[in-house]
Amino acid sequence: MARVNENFEKLPGSYLFAEIARRTEAYQQANPDAALIKLGIGDVTQPLVPAVVAAMHEAVDEQANAATFKGYGPYEGYDFLREAIVEHDFKARGVDIAIDEVFVSDGAKSDCGNIGDIFARDNRVAVCDPVYPVYVDSNAIEGRAGEYDVDAEAWMNITYMPTTAENDFCPALPDAPVDLIYLCSPNNPTGTALTREQLTRWVDYANDRDAIILFDAAYERFITEEGLPHTIYEIPGAKTCAIEFRSFSKTAGFTGMRCGYTVIPHELVRQGQSLNALWMRRQSTKFNGASYIIQKGAAAIYTPEGAAQVQAVIDFYQRNARVIKEGLESAGLTVYGAVNSPYVWCKTPDGMGSWDFFNKLLEEANVITTPGAGFGPAGEGYIRLTAFGEADATREAVERIKRVL
Ligand code: PLP
Repeated sequence: MARVNENFEKLPGSYLFAEIARRTEAYQQANPDAALIKLGIGDVTQPLVPAVVAAMHEAVDEQANAATFKGYGPYEGYDFLREAIVEHDFKARGVDIAIDEVFVSDGAKSDCGNIGDIFARDNRVAVCDPVYPVYVDSNAIEGRAGEYDVDAEAWMNITYMPTTAENDFCPALPDAPVDLIYLCSPNNPTGTALTREQLTRWVDYANDRDAIILFDAAYERFITEEGLPHTIYEIPGAKTCAIEFRSFSKTAGFTGMRCGYTVIPHELVRQGQSLNALWMRRQSTKFNGASYIIQKGAAAIYTPEGAAQVQAVIDFYQRNARVIKEGLESAGLTVYGAVNSPYVWCKTPDGMGSWDFFNKLLEEANVITTPGAGFGPAGEGYIRLTAFGEADATREAVERIKRVL
C-alpha cells in the first residue's frame, strides 16, 4: 500500500491567510456596504515597469521565431541574468560572487522551501519568532521539526528565537545546539533589518559551530538606511557559512511572474561536499529552469532605465510605509519596521491580543491587517500592516484607524 508522508498530518490546520480571508468574507457578507481596505497580505499592486514589459515582449517575439526560439534553458539560469546579478547586486557593493555561485529560480519561496533537500534530516533547525512560515512548514514536511505541540503552538525539534522589541529584533544566539539557522533581513513580518554588527555576531557563531545560515534577503531593495548590509556576504566569513535567497517579487513586482535566485559560494563545504554542487544536482533533478521570457524581464531591471523605474515603484511603497508608520504613531501606537521594509509592525494597544485588535480594526475601521500571532508565539501582541496598497487607500485606512483609536 502506498503510504503518505505523515508529516503533513502534523501541520497545524488553519493557514493564517485562509483564516483572515474567512473572517473578512464573513464580515463582508454580514455588512455588504462596508468598503474594506486591505493592508494584510504582502502582495504588490503596482504593474510591471515599462522596461520589464518591453524586454518580455522582445523575448516573446524571439520565441515566435525559429532562428531565436529557445527550449529548455540552463537549470541554473541564463548567463545574461546571472552576470547582471553578480555585477549589480554584489560587485557594486564590493562583494565578489562568481556567476556559477548564482542559481536563478522561480522565486525565493521555492528555494527556501526546497533547500532542505541538500541537508540531513537530523539537522537541528533554528528560526526567528515571529517568522515567515515557509521555513518552519518545509522543515516539518521533511521530518526535521519533530512533533507539533498544540498548546505551545510550536514544533518540538525547532528552536524558536524570540525576535521582539525587547531584543531590538535581533534574536539572542541560541544556547541549544543548532545546525541550520534561518535569518531574514529586512525581516518579514517585523519590518526590521539586522545591522552589520548583529549579522557579524551570527556569522561568527555559525562559523564557530560549522552551522549554516539560510539568509533570506527577499526585501533587500527596501533598505534605505546607510550602513546596513544588503547581502550577508558583506560580512567577513559569510562565504563559509551562509546561503542567500533573493527574490524579484517585491523588488520588481514579480509576485505573479515568478523569479528569484539563490547564492551558494564555493567555499561552503560540509563533510567534504560542496553545497553548491549538491544544489546544482538537486536543481538539475527537480527543476527545469525559470522561463526565458521571465528571466529577460528580470534582467531589464538592471539596465539604467529599468533600475530607475523599479526604484520609483519602491519609493511609492516606501511613502505608503511612512504614511502608515507616522499615522499610527500619531495615534499613540508603538510602531516598528517601515524604514527599511514594506512592512509595519505595530504593537497592539493596552496589551490587546493580536486577533482581537485584528477584529477591532476589521469591524470598526474596515481595515484588514495581519495578526502577529499568526507568525509565531512571539508575534502575539502585534499586527502587521503592508505598504503595498494604493496611496489613497493607504491614507484612508490610516485615518480610519486613527478615528477608531
Ligand atoms: N521570503 C520572504 C521573507 C517572503 O516574505 C516572501 C514572500 O512573501 C518570499 C520569500 C517569497 O518570495 P517569492 O515570491 O520570490 O517566492
